[in-house]
Amino acid sequence: MSDCIFCKIAKGEIQAQILYQDEDLIAFKDLNPQAPSHILIIPFRHIENLAAAQEQDALLLGKIQLAAAKIAKELGLKDFRLVANNGKGAGQSVFHLHYHLMGGRRFLWPAG
Ligand code: 5GP
Ligand code: ZN
Repeated sequence: MSDCIFCKIAKGEIQAQILYQDEDLIAFKDLNPQAPSHILIIPFRHIENLAAAQEQDALLLGKIQLAAAKIAKELGLKDFRLVANNGKGAGQSVFHLHYHLMGGRRFLWPAG
């Protein structure tokens, strides 16, 4: 999509600090980190969000999760959180599917 900021990052039209890239996806540092490590993992292909994903995206979605685990390991994160906000009400502000990989601090939910 021409006006999608993450499509532009995927095409190299907007700069980002890229940590990982393969034929399907790209991972880069979040501009406004909410944890010491805060990485966004996106597919190259524009999919609005998880609700818009189709049966044929199953392999891609699996690859994103495996990439998240790989990146976390490379960053030395034993514990991490992987989050996908779906829809405005859930906090989605960029409508190109992305997963937040966060680590390096304690998370408040669940308590304890
Ligand atoms: P959402 O709120 O949609 O779940 O997450 C969007 C994320 O994208 C936010 O955490 C925000 O900081 C990040 N973000 C928005 N624009 C840019 C950008 O141009 N570059 C990078 N690296 N991150 C961005
Ligand atoms: Zn896009």
